[in-house]
Amino acid sequence: ASGYTLLRNPRHNKGLAFTEKERDAHYLRGLLPPIVLSQEIQEKKFMHMLRQYQVPLQRYMAMMDLQEMNERLFYKLLIDHVEELLPVVYTPTVGEACQKYGSIFKRPQGIFISLKEKGKIQEVLKNWPERNIQVIVVTDGERILGLGDLGCQGMGIPVGKLSLYTALGGVRPSACLPITLDVGTNNEKLLNDEFYIGLRHKRATGQEYADFLFEFMSAVKQNYGERILIQFEDFANHNAFELLEKYRTTHLVFNDDIQGTASVVLAGLVASLKLLGGTLADHTFLFLGAGEAGTGIAELIALEMSKKTNAPVEEMRKKIWLVDSKGLVVRSRIESLQQFKKPWAHEHKPVKTLLEAVQAIKPTVLIGTSGVGRTFTQDVIEAMASFNKKPLILALSNPTSQSECTAEEAYTWSKGRAIFASGSPFDPVEHDGKVFVPGQANNAYIFPGFGLGLIMCGAIRVHDDMLLAASEALAAQVTDEHFAKGLIYPPFKDIRKISSHIAANVAAKAYELGLASRLPQPRDLVKYAESCMYSPMYRFYR
Ligand code: NAP
Ligand code: MN
Repeated sequence: ASGYTLLRNPRHNKGLAFTEKERDAHYLRGLLPPIVLSQEIQEKKFMHMLRQYQVPLQRYMAMMDLQEMNERLFYKLLIDHVEELLPVVYTPTVGEACQKYGSIFKRPQGIFISLKEKGKIQEVLKNWPERNIQVIVVTDGERILGLGDLGCQGMGIPVGKLSLYTALGGVRPSACLPITLDVGTNNEKLLNDEFYIGLRHKRATGQEYADFLFEFMSAVKQNYGERILIQFEDFANHNAFELLEKYRTTHLVFNDDIQGTASVVLAGLVASLKLLGGTLADHTFLFLGAGEAGTGIAELIALEMSKKTNAPVEEMRKKIWLVDSKGLVVRSRIESLQQFKKPWAHEHKPVKTLLEAVQAIKPTVLIGTSGVGRTFTQDVIEAMASFNKKPLILALSNPTSQSECTAEEAYTWSKGRAIFASGSPFDPVEHDGKVFVPGQANNAYIFPGFGLGLIMCGAIRVHDDMLLAASEALAAQVTDEHFAKGLIYPPFKDIRKISSHIAANVAAKAYELGLASRLPQPRDLVKYAESCMYSPMYRFYR
């Protein structure tokens, strides 16, 4: 290939880092200024530039430009500065990027499959330049973060998630494929927006939707084989539960909002027992939000408690209560409840508000998964603090604007007694002369390592026990030093090490369950996971 082409290929381009020898061998002379820079200097230069941008969206766009110009440098930056850059390429900034995706959209970073392609999905997949795909993240854009239906503009989410698959989990970028399914949108604003990039009609539903997804799922398996991992992301809950139920027996599928979130939160709860004492079964849980995240987490907690106590899951569910938009989920509402809420309809008189529910149930743990911001009000937090020495409060909704409360509110209103973590990041807070470091309870801890684990052992199905294995591995990474700061998650800067432990535990479980196809089983799974990880260091081109 000519030097000019080489410079324009993000997978191979090194910019000023091409050496003298490479410049001679690959017809690059004259196409670059004379100086040769190291990758480290390029990294320093780019970070310097990035930090000058005050507007988060500008940083996001600069990162996306870098990804399309020099992929290895992009990943080097993301890996080396993960705590600083995660909020840029992921929540909260990715949410704003999706809202404005129509105007910032430049080049395709993934595949768009719309209803127009019905009957031709197989061919559409073949248009993607890479053949050896290992993981697909797919959305239909109906429930993007806590921002609602963003239609075709949801593409920012699979793109962002997959860059974390590479940076945090070490899956090769060429093996990652972001896909957005466009079945229309019910977002009036987008439908009337002249810059909107998606189909301008209401969402397809029912049989039409099911057929389209069936064609997609079949085409994917046919194209990439049995071991392709498909991660469902940000589907509305009325489809998410059904899709997972329908395809978990025939495909390697994983719903991050239901299962990934559950695994992350369970890990935080298990870790917090070191601070609180006792066992999970000693606790009472109350959720605000009974959707994918809420019921997913609730079910995994019940499963873990049941394994630990040998009591039936049904028994353990009774320690867990959920509030939805109509109030406490109780027995008398059962007729009108969606299927996934029914297991949580316990015997209790109707309760309308969260505050009343807190007062009635007296939970030790309060978890926000409603997608609605500012719902953990002062009354609610003070009530939690009135009957708990250390109330555990998780405000999981994303992005930051939808967080149930801020870190500062949680610490101030509980007089510094809360153990707090949130889905989107908050800065440390000073209260009464003490500094509190809020943890980030985000599924970015789990899915990259979880996916790596599945891929490296050639798993053919996902089993709930693998989610428990991932939680255990994550919780085990929290050290005394972290606990001393009030943290129930390890810092993101160690994420590659964390991911290798998660991957190893998940793979071990897959082998144990007979669901792994890569044989023989590697002896040291942690080492093996590390050896599988993509490195962003430049290659020398001879
Ligand atoms: P979902 O399936 O749509 O569920 C939302 C739930 O919240 C529903 O049960 C809904 O009630 C309830 N709700 C909505 N408004 C409410 C209100 N004003 N009061 C009480 N309940 C209300 O959404 P999801 O997938 O669970 O996601 C919810 C949020 O969690 C999003 O913001 C998402 O970004 C966040 N999330 C965070 C993580 C993380 O890693 N931190 C992971 C996944 C999701 P009805 O059922 O009555 O409509
Ligand atoms: Mn999600």
